Amino acid sequence: MNKTESERCFYCKEYYKVTQEYPVNTATYDVGSFTPRCFLHWQYECSKCKEMTHFNGIAWCSDCKVFTCIRCVEEKMVKEEFLIYNYYYNIPCHNCNSTNPALDFTEFEGTHPFQIGDLIPKEDIVIWMPIYKELNQQEFPHRAWGSERILDLGKAPRHTRLDSLDEYTPKSTWDKMATLWVSPETEGEYHHTNLILPEVYRMLDAQENEKILDVACGEGTVARYLAKLGTKVTGIDISKMIDRAMERENKDKLDIHYIKMAAEELDKEFGRDTFDKIVCNMALMDIADYKNTIKNISNVLKGGGIFVFSITHPAYAWPATTSMRVPQDSQRNEDKRKIALDYFDERPTLIPFGFETPSLAFPRPVSKYVNELVKNNLEIIEMSEPKASEEIVEKYPRQAYLDNDTLPDFLMIKTKKK
Ligand SMILES: [Zn+2]
Ligand SMILES: [Zn+2]
Ligand SMILES: [Zn+2]
Repeated sequence: MNKTESERCFYCKEYYKVTQEYPVNTATYDVGSFTPRCFLHWQYECSKCKEMTHFNGIAWCSDCKVFTCIRCVEEKMVKEEFLIYNYYYNIPCHNCNSTNPALDFTEFEGTHPFQIGDLIPKEDIVIWMPIYKELNQQEFPHRAWGSERILDLGKAPRHTRLDSLDEYTPKSTWDKMATLWVSPETEGEYHHTNLILPEVYRMLDAQENEKILDVACGEGTVARYLAKLGTKVTGIDISKMIDRAMERENKDKLDIHYIKMAAEELDKEFGRDTFDKIVCNMALMDIADYKNTIKNISNVLKGGGIFVFSITHPAYAWPATTSMRVPQDSQRNEDKRKIALDYFDERPTLIPFGFETPSLAFPRPVSKYVNELVKNNLEIIEMSEPKASEEIVEKYPRQAYLDNDTLPDFLMIKTKKK
């Protein structure tokens, strides 16, 4: 039989990446999964509760010759970089209470029961004996068991966190995007058409003759919809997207007033208490200075006026979360999994939405938005996390089933200025 990639132990292979000459054993457990494991890296039976336990959650006491699992006692976390990890568990022996590291660390130390001869492996495996100088610390590439590594395994699409904005700005990325973006109203883009726009329109509840400002209006889909209801619409946007909106306006003559300007500078253009309603559709997460933007929105909104915005969901959408399929080429949604990455990482992020040009996002937790609304006298009167209806699931099963009907991709907030 050929020794295929999937038949070699996942842990052995990972250790081999950071430790020269680590012997890679054949996997005999979980073969065919994306983490097949050898006998050494499988499970050990706790002498107390008799539960089979992953080797990283169980410790051997060489004095008592017993295993104690992490469920039976209270473990301590020890921060130390070894192999592919940056911590290990110290687990007190259930018999004598002396503390022993979990088996992942003991293997690194050379005190694993197989290494010191306390136990003889029941399967034919090669046991590594560590020589510390062989460890190449420069190659330490991983955060222990972070979801980033799961992504590596599944080869899910990746996004790039940026430490500076030298190369990318929201304007430059959206300028590039302007030629690629398809209008939701002409092309019927699935998310916008089915989940986002109907909810934003319902929450905004625009009435004839209301003065409405569309912040970061892009190519004008929302502005045109509102103008057709008989409202007086102003649309602002900093990117070339607004050029397309202006071209459309020249043809359609809907009396929409477009201005190319930054959302952070609204009160330079408009007086206080100018608009009855303000909408910002799918843009605040792409705006770096969201604090000034919200402050400006509050300033130019009339007292009692309504501000509605929609964003990609800070917790359940890119970049806090991504999704992957196992197997990756499966088209069935039951094979799709959401993976939480880092909700608190607020570094600017390049997100490859399938265009040549990635979108530049400024991720931030929900609380950041809410606190900024509160600070600027914008009282939250409704929140929405649109869920795909049965009709949408039936119509677009591949997009919606076990996806938009299980976790929200978008968040909408409706506020009223006090
Ligand atoms: Zn192994
Ligand atoms: Zn136990
Ligand atoms: Zn003991």
